[in-house]
Amino acid sequence: MNITFKKAEILKEHPEDSTLGFGTIFTDYMFNMDYSPETGWHKARIEPYGPIAMDPATMVLHYGQAIFEGLKAYRTDSGDVQLFRPKDNLKRLNKSGHMLCMPELDEAFLLKALKELIKVEKSWVPAATGTSLYIRPTIIATDPYIGLRSSNTYRLFIILSPVGAYYPEGFNPVKIWVTTEYVRAVRGGVGEAKTAGNYAASLYATELAHKDGYTQVMWLDGVELKYVEEVGSMNIFFVIGDELITPALNRSILAGVTRDSVIKLAGSWGLKVVERKISIDEIYAAHATGELKEVFGSGTAAVISPVGNIKYNGKEIIINNGQVGQLAAKLFHHLMDIQYGRANDEFNWIEPLQ
Ligand SMILES: *Cc1c(COP(=O)(O)O)cnc(C)c1O
Repeated sequence: MNITFKKAEILKEHPEDSTLGFGTIFTDYMFNMDYSPETGWHKARIEPYGPIAMDPATMVLHYGQAIFEGLKAYRTDSGDVQLFRPKDNLKRLNKSGHMLCMPELDEAFLLKALKELIKVEKSWVPAATGTSLYIRPTIIATDPYIGLRSSNTYRLFIILSPVGAYYPEGFNPVKIWVTTEYVRAVRGGVGEAKTAGNYAASLYATELAHKDGYTQVMWLDGVELKYVEEVGSMNIFFVIGDELITPALNRSILAGVTRDSVIKLAGSWGLKVVERKISIDEIYAAHATGELKEVFGSGTAAVISPVGNIKYNGKEIIINNGQVGQLAAKLFHHLMDIQYGRANDEFNWIEPLQ
């Protein structure tokens, strides 16, 4: 399929790298493509960034049939632009689409389209330490219809946003709050899909955490409210004794690309990495015996997010004296070094733009 290009009349001014936050500034162009049962995916185009006019009956607005991805492009010291594991994100987009009854995408074509869009917008990839170009591919159901079924037509779009360093004030631990009342996802539901409703469902408990002075929610499993699943919209890791433990994928946990990178990297350093069920009680017991050394989250936005405090059933524990753990810091720096082209890409995770 051909990708057409429509030039923007006016180009936006680029922000200073030092003023960048997260998710508020978008580039000049976007990629769009439509789906209908008769023509399949068609009309692949790069065109000026702008609003999408929609009939108020458009299905995505009512029934939430929407999926997305989040990945980043990085500028290396030599000025080149590169992507981190984009094929894994596109594969996951198809997996989410499958769960949401959406038509399959040609991942090789979409990677080509993504690269083409970023080539057009290369000047928008910031260069300052820790900054990057955040990439948000999204698919929405577009039939104008009020009635519950899966849509026949879809729009895929990719938008780009230059983002600042996640830790402008330094790499510091966050405080997390374990909810014993609300769940993010449940086995048999759509927790392992990156679909809009999962995030809407997480807002209420997150507000309760904020009211109590905590940054993020730790989610327990939706069946027994006993086993740890994720923290905020990140995967979670625990260092207990000399093992690195993360909850095993159980169909309600989102299979993070960063999670997989942490498992492979830590394994290559000779660490014992274990994927298994781990209960919140076990974590508190390991803290009581002094065996719980580190807790950290993993995700594209923050890469690694160390956890300093956990509150569960009114009882707070402090991890590693509220300091960033050694392993969290090592993983954070090494992953960033790979992403910015400063470390050897031994796992073939880097996708050059060319
Ligand atoms: C996106 C996401 C993650 C992290 O995935 P990455 O591929 O590492 O960015 C973890 N949990 C949830 C719920 C997510 O939406």
